[in-house]
Amino acid sequence: TELSRIRNFSIIAHIDHGKSTLADRLIQRTGGLSEREMSSQVLDNMDIEKERGITIKAQTVRLEWNGYTLNLMDTPGHVDFAYEVSRSLAACEGALLVVDAAQGVEAQTLANVYQSIEHDHEIVPVINKIDLPAAEPEKVRAEIEEIIGLDASEAVLASAKSGIGIDEVLDAIVAKIPPPKGDAAAPLKAMLVDSWYDPYLGVVILVRVIDGTLKKGQQIKFMQAGTTHLIDRVGCFRPKIEQLTELGPGEIGFITAQIKDVAQARVGDTLTDARRPADTPLPGFREVQPVVFCGLFPTDANDFEKLRESISKLRLNDASFSFEMETSAALGFGFRCGFLGLLHLEIIQERLTREYDLDLITTAPSVVYRLQLTRSAGEAEARTIELHNPADMPDPNKIDTIEEPWIEATIYVPDEYLGAILKLCQDRRGIQKNLTYVGGRAQLTYELPLNEVVFDFYDRLKSISRGYASFDYHQIGYREGDLVKMSILVNNEPVDALSMIVHRGTAETRGRGMCERLKDLIPRHLFKIPIQAAIGGKVIARETIAALRKDVTAKCYGGDITRKRKLLEKQKEGKKRMREYGSVQIPQEAFIAALRMG
Ligand code: GDP
Ligand code: MG
Repeated sequence: TELSRIRNFSIIAHIDHGKSTLADRLIQRTGGLSEREMSSQVLDNMDIEKERGITIKAQTVRLEWNGYTLNLMDTPGHVDFAYEVSRSLAACEGALLVVDAAQGVEAQTLANVYQSIEHDHEIVPVINKIDLPAAEPEKVRAEIEEIIGLDASEAVLASAKSGIGIDEVLDAIVAKIPPPKGDAAAPLKAMLVDSWYDPYLGVVILVRVIDGTLKKGQQIKFMQAGTTHLIDRVGCFRPKIEQLTELGPGEIGFITAQIKDVAQARVGDTLTDARRPADTPLPGFREVQPVVFCGLFPTDANDFEKLRESISKLRLNDASFSFEMETSAALGFGFRCGFLGLLHLEIIQERLTREYDLDLITTAPSVVYRLQLTRSAGEAEARTIELHNPADMPDPNKIDTIEEPWIEATIYVPDEYLGAILKLCQDRRGIQKNLTYVGGRAQLTYELPLNEVVFDFYDRLKSISRGYASFDYHQIGYREGDLVKMSILVNNEPVDALSMIVHRGTAETRGRGMCERLKDLIPRHLFKIPIQAAIGGKVIARETIAALRKDVTAKCYGGDITRKRKLLEKQKEGKKRMREYGSVQIPQEAFIAALRMG
């Protein structure tokens, strides 16, 4: 395709503002989909994505409109997948900025816009959901100008749901977004935008050609990985697969090259011709590193092999999570896994439970700490270690300093919830950096320890603000902190799955909360069960579960009756879901539920 006839764009939006619906409409309008196929969203094709309404893996679709070829790049919609987003954006010259006409500009909108601007994108604003009674398109238009600083005078007013303004969106893409640049005669340079495992095709690689041409039968070299492969298929998605003979400069499409493992096809790598290689790879390659770690153990020890197989299969499709075997005194054999964030963790855990039918115990998530150990006699230099499992915490006497990762968070919140959000951030050791008002809404910037955010910060933020606050973050480096390991003892035995690293200043509150929740989550036994939180040998919080009187059952349940009843029902599902600690049975649900901070 001639360069001047190509437009590459992505859609950026805050979650739920209508990105996927608009994408499907554009595909439908340009002939790729029938009305019936429209009924289920095409670009979000995994079950979990559909349920949570977020896009996890980036997909791309080629559209034809008035003699132009438009490549629509769908980008992941969550902060955990920021690097993948950045590569998708780097493959485009422009972006549609979708803003909900009733909700207006939100934190994620802004974070995406800034990234888009960094990639020199031409941004085309689309005000979506104008069919809603609560829609205020003119107010939103002003917001886009005021908050983001974009000219929104020509913003397209649309309703992706009712099909209003779709032609105008397509025309605006052609008119406003610049065509790609590239040199067909130069040595091949193509960016690896995404890769995934397909059971029929093997690893499928999504590419954006910058210079040169990719052809079937060509020997290509991955410049970062250093490997060579023979291309056996070249094509694009419309959204159905269509095979092509080649992809030229400016084009987006896929290749397959008999690659078995996605780990060999890392996002951001540069593909070049093995016989006539480019001198330098494309800029911006980064190796993605997991930031949140936790242990995954089968509830039933006999499921270990099944867990190993399932994890290995999932990993085939997701090179960004890591796993290694772990043994725990209480939980037996399992895996220590690393994730890009808490959502990523939940997705993998949910897929293991749902697609592979496994009952799992997840241990307390932990970030990666940097420990400076005290220099022992005979050692020339003090040692620094990275700790991602509280169980591996060395003796406090052997630690000089502990550093923890920090983030900078941007929060948007309507004025009336501001006080509660400030308190939440303060409680989580946040440092306020900025507070400005834009049209009745506060924009807050906070520095926070990642450790205080990984548990339930996002859930709390949403519940405190009735869903109105939005949140985005990025890491800003390591800082020293007064951190200690807190153990939880049930019936005087430490439950290693629940031990965590906490700040000394918040340890007592956290410990008390844990004990209180466990008291509710662990069913009564025939004997009294003490629950304690301890630092070193010192108990900082304590609760006791009273003994069950054999004759009475119904009367025992005070407090939150429905919750206890649910628990009781779960218990009936079988003893398999329980974990025995000494002589105490702890339900599987308790492990995660206990970690939620009240
Ligand atoms: P995404 O998270 O940005 O991909 O948003 P979705 O496309 O999944 O849309 C979120 C919700 O908004 C869904 O329930 C859609 O049906 C709905 N929605 C999307 N566009 C419109 C619109 O133009 N009007 C109305 N009323 N609802 C819409
Ligand atoms: Mg979506």
